[in-house]
Amino acid sequence: MPIDTRGYFMLPQKPEEAGYYPYGTPDRGRAHYGHPKLLTFIFLVEHRWVMQDDRKIGIGNISLADGTRSDHRSHRNGLQVDVRPLRKDGENIPVKYFHAQYDREATARLIDLFWQTGLVKNIFFNDVSIPRVRKLAGHDNHIHVEILN
Ligand SMILES: [Zn+2]
Repeated sequence: MPIDTRGYFMLPQKPEEAGYYPYGTPDRGRAHYGHPKLLTFIFLVEHRWVMQDDRKIGIGNISLADGTRSDHRSHRNGLQVDVRPLRKDGENIPVKYFHAQYDREATARLIDLFWQTGLVKNIFFNDVSIPRVRKLAGHDNHIHVEILN
């Protein structure tokens, strides 16, 4: 498992039977270095998710190795992760919250699992029909989750 100078691990990219799939830029895990607490958060949510749904959770950018600056203003401390909303067809591709393939019910369940961990500080996502999410420009097609330090 690749590790950076902060001691942060790269999220395993294709673990067998995983309840998530990775995406993001740059690819091949280079934007997937997470604080140990964040990886714990992801695995906890994944564990609960696979018990209720066959679709995989799309896990996007976390941080670059060593917290290097990127075109992403945030995503440097390894405590933030982007997650895709669920699609009705279960395809592992993006969807915006106002498109026909967007599955509001499943996405709301996933966001509820995030809160249930007790580890979440903030969630930004533009489908504000879902409780406790905050609107932010650019968040039509992904949920930005920040966990507590
Ligand atoms: Zn983000």
